[in-house]
Amino acid sequence: MGTSMTVWAIAGIIVAAVVIAWALVKAGRKVRDKTEASKVIQMSLYKPKPGQPVKSQGGSKTCSFCKKKSKRLAFYANEAGGVVGVCDDCRPQAERRALMRL
Ligand SMILES: [Zn+2]
Repeated sequence: MGTSMTVWAIAGIIVAAVVIAWALVKAGRKVRDKTEASKVIQMSLYKPKPGQPVKSQGGSKTCSFCKKKSKRLAFYANEAGGVVGVCDDCRPQAERRALMRL
């Protein structure tokens, strides 16, 4: 009986933490201007102009964060104003960084 109580207590803490994190993210997004979000979307839709060399087209690209190869990368502006490609695993990290830059 004691064990199941502990499990419920932990579950409650996790749910509370998720709700708080979600609320913080939502509040942060509301405060910050929407241009950053649209910039990120535009970058992820960005396609190189024809005639420009495209690195590893059709193949896998390397994530700028974990250096693992990923077929699908999301692109974000980094601190230096450059563009970094990140895999799905590192996207939350990149999003957090993008928000912290402001
Ligand atoms: Zn990664």
